[in-house]
Amino acid sequence: MTKRIGLFPGTFDPPTLGHLDIVKRAAGVCDHLYIGIAQNLGKREQLFNVEEKQAMLLELTHTIPNVEVVTFSELVVEFAKRKEVSFLIRGLRPFADFEHEFQMALANRMMAEIETLFLMADERYAHVSSSLIREIAHFGHRLKGFVPDAIEDIVHQRVLMHRQ
Ligand code: ADP
Repeated sequence: MTKRIGLFPGTFDPPTLGHLDIVKRAAGVCDHLYIGIAQNLGKREQLFNVEEKQAMLLELTHTIPNVEVVTFSELVVEFAKRKEVSFLIRGLRPFADFEHEFQMALANRMMAEIETLFLMADERYAHVSSSLIREIAHFGHRLKGFVPDAIEDIVHQRVLMHRQ
């Protein structure tokens, strides 16, 4: 049987408990799961560079045997083709994500005939986003319950550093 290779692409600036939940569940439906960190040329200034994001995601997922953390700088579909990916994985939060995700999924299918599997956000994390986290930390509040404990300190410090 052909291997089911999934690719969960994203910006992960920073990785959140919502991302991690999607990774854990996606790993259960894939033989191999790539977490793909996009090098977003032209997107807003990032809190963390890709090497830092990769290190954090490695630390958070090293116990899941079929997960591999990679970075890419081309179009998602080009990268997916190069890695012989069977389908993309995306998380879907209520309200916030549908329109954009629908557009991306259709565009990716049109360009490369690749399907996107959507996993519904867990109700515990449906409100969690990287931008909300940056906003909360900007005002000095701690991030417990938003980002994994292992990276809470560094994310909090980094947002405060960027504030100056
Ligand atoms: P992008 O800039 O590509 O949207 P993100 O890092 O913001 O990258 O998100 C990557 C994926 O993770 C997207 O599919 C997004 O919908 C999903 N995601 C983000 N936060 C959550 C969450 N709290 N619960 C479930 N999925 C999420």
